Amino acid sequence: MADVTIALAKGRIFEESLPLLARAGLEPVDDPEASRKLILATRRAGVRLILVRAADVPTYVQYGAADLGVAGRDLLAEHGGQGLYQPLDLGIARCRMAVAVPEGFDYAGAVRQGARLRVATKYIQTAREHFAAKGVHVDLIRLYGSMELAPLVGLADAIVDLVDTGNTLRANKLRVVEELMPISSHLIVNPASLKLKRDAIAPLIESFREAAGG
Ligand code: AMP
Repeated sequence: MADVTIALAKGRIFEESLPLLARAGLEPVDDPEASRKLILATRRAGVRLILVRAADVPTYVQYGAADLGVAGRDLLAEHGGQGLYQPLDLGIARCRMAVAVPEGFDYAGAVRQGARLRVATKYIQTAREHFAAKGVHVDLIRLYGSMELAPLVGLADAIVDLVDTGNTLRANKLRVVEELMPISSHLIVNPASLKLKRDAIAPLIESFREAAGG
């Protein structure tokens, strides 16, 4: 049977994927934290996991370096999803993508007056489309992390970021003023892999579907 590679991100998606991988019979043989390996064998013969940066998962699958991947909808939206088959919402790592501003900032007023807003985010494409559709004028500033800091030090008026419990926003005296989309992790598949290795990959997609409960 053809070998199959599944790309996963370290951190929250990996942790939330573990029970799902276990139910699908795809648990890693080594503990990734302890082993520091980036390629992990699984309990299913011929199926391995690779650990990459979350934002790189769609790229690995697009180019066929991985046959399947688990990627957040935030990163799929930003990637554009070209060349990716997206058969399944796994329902894990749920949160929402939102616009947030400092508690005292009159966002609605600024938008009404047609003010040009500075928005810090790592989701440049998604944010650009969102504000363009609403007719809000923005200058987008690309950041790679700790977006919540930007409005506090005068780098931006607003941020576009992921919000789960809202604790990070509250701790930094920010509030949500708009929601862009609900986020969860999706299974993505390289379409050429699916054609060439259908016998191996189709049952894996079914295992994920059952493990995800639907
Ligand atoms: P919270 O304080 O629970 O609202 O979480 C917000 C912080 O966690 C932000 O810095 C987010 O970027 C990050 N975060 C929340 N949910 C996710 C997720 N599903 N995937 C990746 N990062 C997340």
